[in-house]
Amino acid sequence: MDTKKDRCRICYSSDASPSNPLLSPCLCSGSLLFIHLDWLSFRAVQRCEICKGRVVVDPNVFDLKDCYMRIRQVN
Ligand SMILES: [Zn+2]
Ligand SMILES: [Zn+2]
Repeated sequence: MDTKKDRCRICYSSDASPSNPLLSPCLCSGSLLFIHLDWLSFRAVQRCEICKGRVVVDPNVFDLKDCYMRIRQVN
């Protein structure tokens, strides 16, 4: 498995920008770890269909560290 480069699991792009960063908002790992913020807001994901974990992202006030900490608390 090529995990050297972070890739979005939806569009398989490794492009990331401040307005559309690659995020790891749930418990998926490996090639499923990352997803673009755009996809999360577009799909309004509340729960990951793969790991069944809650996706804790509010695109309006997103903070990666805060998201990470909240995920840890949930589990
Ligand atoms: Zn993407
Ligand atoms: Zn997941």
